[in-house]
Amino acid sequence: QGLGMPHLGVPRTQHGEMAVSITKWVDRWTPSPILALARARPEVLTYVAQQEAIQQNLTIGLTVFAVGRYLEKYLARFLETAEQHFMVGQRVVYYVFTERPAAVPRLPLGPGRRLRVERVLRERRWQDVSMERMRTLHAALGGRLGREAHFVFCMDVDQYFSGAFGPETLADSVAQLHAWRYHWPRRLLPYESDPRSAAALAPGEGDFYYHAALFGGSVAALRRLTAHCARGQQQDRARGLEARWHDESHLNKYFWLHKPAKVLSPEFCWCPEIGRRAEIRRPRLLWAPKEYTLVRD
Ligand code: UDP
Ligand code: MN
Repeated sequence: QGLGMPHLGVPRTQHGEMAVSITKWVDRWTPSPILALARARPEVLTYVAQQEAIQQNLTIGLTVFAVGRYLEKYLARFLETAEQHFMVGQRVVYYVFTERPAAVPRLPLGPGRRLRVERVLRERRWQDVSMERMRTLHAALGGRLGREAHFVFCMDVDQYFSGAFGPETLADSVAQLHAWRYHWPRRLLPYESDPRSAAALAPGEGDFYYHAALFGGSVAALRRLTAHCARGQQQDRARGLEARWHDESHLNKYFWLHKPAKVLSPEFCWCPEIGRRAEIRRPRLLWAPKEYTLVRD
């Protein structure tokens, strides 16, 4: 337990580790000179993670859905900033899911990076677009995406990269602390509480509240995660229920039952409207302004 949180006053999870520029290499050795180095020069450890990913010849997938007006509103900036900051120097394959493949912007991509477009049906309700992602991802992970990538991140499109987001974030399963909720007491966290829902947590259950705008992991782990969430959503629908925060409620249930191997600090998916916080030094991904009246029907 010697490894404290350099940037964030949140304890480590029982099974997981916090990634705040600090990587599993620190966790494995944990000699104090390394720890001191991690605090003083986090970029050194980021470099170690980069070299290890290159040596392992990893391919990292990044999935994003851009359905309806979310495509014009957010996709270009998401991809352009990913080119600048996401897994730079690694092999990357973007998977864009949309009902209008022809409208996907054709960006020049860096070496070793490619973009694939997959057609999906447009659900009528935005909640269904959001929730259907679990089933679509499950299928994609069982197909070409699962064959060509070792690790995959699944992200919302209404955000953009603002700092280096590299292989120090990789682990078998990766969860994102919710920027608005990471310092809330547990009893206030907005888990699903209706016991009839597959996403329900009983009073006293739950530890962190994770943001569904970003999760990731190995292909095998994500197959299990997406299967669980899609099944839970299907079960709720059959009972005429919908969890409070849709796919996010099911994701939180999954990570309560199966602890993530790595928990990312809110720096990795930060909301600029929160304003300055001492522990948030280097945001890597920022929420775009929510313009629901423009993008939701
Ligand atoms: N989404 C989409 N079209 C829609 C609704 C949702 O493409 O009509 C995708 C998009 O990637 C979006 C994600 O689903 O970022 C989650 O929806 P949203 O960001 O609106 O949810 P919130 O972040 O507000 O919970
Ligand atoms: Mn979003």
